[in-house]
Amino acid sequence: MRVELLPALSDNYMYLLIDADTREAAIVDPVEPIKVVEAVRKHSVKLTTVLTTHHHWDHAGGNEKMLKLMPGLKVYGGDDRVDGITKKVSHSHSFKLGSLNIKCLFTPCHTTGHICYYVTKENSTEPPAVFTGDTLFVAGCGKFFEGTAEQMYKALIEILGRLPPETVIPSTVVMSTPSTMKSFKRKPTVPSTLADEFTFNPFMRVKEKSVQDHVKQTNPIETMRSLRKEKDNFRVPKE
Ligand SMILES: [Zn+2]
Repeated sequence: MRVELLPALSDNYMYLLIDADTREAAIVDPVEPIKVVEAVRKHSVKLTTVLTTHHHWDHAGGNEKMLKLMPGLKVYGGDDRVDGITKKVSHSHSFKLGSLNIKCLFTPCHTTGHICYYVTKENSTEPPAVFTGDTLFVAGCGKFFEGTAEQMYKALIEILGRLPPETVIPSTVVMSTPSTMKSFKRKPTVPSTLADEFTFNPFMRVKEKSVQDHVKQTNPIETMRSLRKEKDNFRVPKE
């Protein structure tokens, strides 16, 4: 499988997922459809599928236009609020994209209908990949707009956290440590793996004493809640 990162809006990415065997492709959160059409031409692939992680406009806002530009696309999502949805999915729903298998992982919290898409290739040594939307970022996680710390704990530790450690996370990085706060922006990054996230993402390390001590908590879910509160309250200093 191949994943092409397409910059979108000022600080987002769309991901063109290509099955190298059949040239069939899917686009994750095509908020800027014209750029998607250009990339599809450039890479000579057959786009059949839209994978929507959640209904927020900066992820699903291009779906209707995408459908107009390329009629017949299948639009997957886990929430009736997803624009242009044609296939509503729930946890563990699986389907094929050429020779790739895509499995839907239901991770409500940022929104109540958030889906992550886990991609594997059968009989292959290629590592799997997961598209995590606004649930998991490299070194961070999404805000709990429609959910609780308990739900984010389940999403990060019990669902995403149980995927193979070599799973690649095509994502953006949220610079969020105090020393780098001046550039509080999502930046492109080399893909991270799940094992990397367990090493440096505080939200994935809530079972560790050092992280719990940092927010003066003793249990993982309260640690998750406190870490998110700390990030939510942080204001970027004016230069
Ligand atoms: Zn969002």
